[in-house]
Amino acid sequence: MKSKPIFVTQSSMPPYEEYIEAIKPLWQSRWLTNMGVYHKELELKLKEFLDVPYLSLMVNGHMALELAIQVMDFPVGAEVITTPFTFISTTHAIVRNHLQPVFCDVKKENGTMDETKIEGLITEKTVAIIPVHVYGNICDVEAIQKVADKYNLKVIYDAAHAFGVKRKGNGIGNYGDASIFSFHATKVFNTIEGGAVVFSDPKLYDKLYNIKNFGIRGEELVAAIGANAKMNEFSAIMGLCNLKYIDYAIGKRKQCYQAYKKDLEPVKGIRFFEPDAEIESNYGYFPIFVETDYPINRDELYILLKGNNYFTRKYFYPLTSDQACFKNKYRSLTLENARNLSEKVLVLPLYEELELEEIKKITKIIESPKDYL
Ligand SMILES: *Cc1c(COP(=O)(O)O)cnc(C)c1O
Repeated sequence: MKSKPIFVTQSSMPPYEEYIEAIKPLWQSRWLTNMGVYHKELELKLKEFLDVPYLSLMVNGHMALELAIQVMDFPVGAEVITTPFTFISTTHAIVRNHLQPVFCDVKKENGTMDETKIEGLITEKTVAIIPVHVYGNICDVEAIQKVADKYNLKVIYDAAHAFGVKRKGNGIGNYGDASIFSFHATKVFNTIEGGAVVFSDPKLYDKLYNIKNFGIRGEELVAAIGANAKMNEFSAIMGLCNLKYIDYAIGKRKQCYQAYKKDLEPVKGIRFFEPDAEIESNYGYFPIFVETDYPINRDELYILLKGNNYFTRKYFYPLTSDQACFKNKYRSLTLENARNLSEKVLVLPLYEELELEEIKKITKIIESPKDYL
């Protein structure tokens, strides 16, 4: 019997009345964007929550990354070492800044950039490293910083998946020269669409302000060349409302995560990442890897679950370096681990309102797929 469709994620939303009440003042002020009071309040609250020195809100995570790269003023054509096992946005942001991505392999233990392979990719043209805390798994930030310091490279983390993650008690945005977060509707914390750049150099605040608001610094003064990447007030209010429930949301996600883990641990041929003792997770995703000793392959399992109304996703397949727009254009390593993970991965449904009963049904199918074929 088919149940209602269950998708890989479902957006967090505050109680309806609460949001409606919160947006009411906008009908008085008629101030809907351009760094309004809610924009300011959300910047402050997020800085506190993420435990970072500086934060600039953006219209979305992708623009946060594009602008974080842009403010570094890299020369055109310079090389940036990055990972292909990510959402396409990471690679687009590099290329759209007229830089060349150089693809480094990842570690099979957690899918993050293999820090031991970075040095071999560095040339005279290398200016930066852009790793990804993929699924909220944290890169080896200390080893990466060491390489960066040795070669005088900037480090910008794509922390789109890592909202609220802590490492040894520190907010994850405190590493490298900058990190970006995404507040897209599908992420652990959302402002409908939104994002932020976090950083430690106060000079970046003004530079980012300029490029997110046309460089406007006075009624008759445009001081810098800028784009438009401001967050509007409806989004900022959504963020303020959702932020009140973030601990609850992460707590519920943790229950789902543990339910999957308990049921799937004994299943032969299904592997998943082990939690890192130094990391306080946000339980954003539950990726599994369908190994060769599992009775059916990844694509067959994907179809089987879909046939039972469970919509998993092959995040991240294909690798960004294999996508039509980038294939064979840039330098890369053999990418053996990245390719291997990408060919075996399935991300299972996980969100705060997902019922444990549904997880049970999903894991039952995964436990004995042949019974459902
Ligand atoms: C979601 C995401 C982005 C882009 O964020 P948007 O808010 O959707 O623009 C960038 N990188 C990664 C890894 C993401 O998952």
